[in-house]
Amino acid sequence: MKKIFFALVPVFLTVACLFLTGMAARLKTPVYVKVLMRRDTGSFSLYSDFPVAIENERGKRIGSARAGEKIKVRFPDSSIIVNRKLYRGSSLYFVSEGNINLGGEWLKGKIKVERFPAEGGFSICVVNILELEDYLKGVVPNEVFPCWESEALKAQAVASRSYALYHIINNKGAPYDLNNVSSQLYRGAGTEDKRTSCAIDATRGQVITYKNKVLCAYFATVCGGHTEVPYNVWVNFKDDFPGAVRCGYCDKAPNYSWDYSISSDRLRDRFAEKNINLGEIIKIYPSKKSRYGSRITEVGILHSGGDAKLRIVRFRDILGPENVKSGQFSVVKKGNRFYFTGRGHGHGVGMCQYGARELAVRGWNYKAILSYYYPGSGVKKIY
Ligand SMILES: [Zn+2]
Repeated sequence: MKKIFFALVPVFLTVACLFLTGMAARLKTPVYVKVLMRRDTGSFSLYSDFPVAIENERGKRIGSARAGEKIKVRFPDSSIIVNRKLYRGSSLYFVSEGNINLGGEWLKGKIKVERFPAEGGFSICVVNILELEDYLKGVVPNEVFPCWESEALKAQAVASRSYALYHIINNKGAPYDLNNVSSQLYRGAGTEDKRTSCAIDATRGQVITYKNKVLCAYFATVCGGHTEVPYNVWVNFKDDFPGAVRCGYCDKAPNYSWDYSISSDRLRDRFAEKNINLGEIIKIYPSKKSRYGSRITEVGILHSGGDAKLRIVRFRDILGPENVKSGQFSVVKKGNRFYFTGRGHGHGVGMCQYGARELAVRGWNYKAILSYYYPGSGVKKIY
């Protein structure tokens, strides 16, 4: 557990070299991941059932707390105050032999608080640094149901590991590799389940490779009939990614079909909250579509003041991804309301989680499932 941060630097270099040399070398383990837990928070508190050491950037112990003692961390002005004691420097570590409770979630590894200059002043990051395999044990049970077939759990474990390792490798000096919610759902050691942990252990060190690199293995809840490629969803995604595939395996999933309605006034308010001012909305229509299935990649909003165009991700974010559950929908206006009818849940890129589950039910193993949803890829054990 000592000096994890300094241990990370050679690990990152080794990982980077590993893929430059075609994975000829063995990866130095354990691999650590930095997960953003809070951003720009004014304060937070933590405790452990074991004593907690407070360390500076060089690993020197500069304070401590007793077992069970609540530690309150505040950031007034440009300083870090821990239990009324002022700390100089831009970062602190909280280290314990036991798990650390941060805002109700039990976390393995250590907690790093970092203050760094940002536009308009400074920014605060609260980051959980832990072993990649431990991180996965706090992710997979939150991404799929632990009662699912073990081959579906293994497919998710390998996809989640690949997604995380891709971000570790490609981290260009950022204070964290992933965040705890939008990257993949991480809720710490308190959510671990024997069945998902077993799938993670059984596939330890295995990742999906594509064109000799670790794949950024996106996955989505329910593809709705056909998966998608990342370039149609995130314009900035530039790496190689396998083609999309037809999926006839998720039609029994929740939200395979969905509907949603919203009044014209409320719709305008939702956009106004994001500084997009629309006139009277006449029509919502697909201004660009993917060639896969019926997925909309850009939404047009014809209104009395013009014709607004938004990427599907932005459109769903504004209306709420839990309302407009996917980019596959049609919409009609009746009176003063817009009625959406859609299919699928999530962005649809990469593995369809409910489809993977159905394939496992039909007896497919996890490697076959992964190679179906990421065509042309392979599974390699790199540690
Ligand atoms: Zn599907």
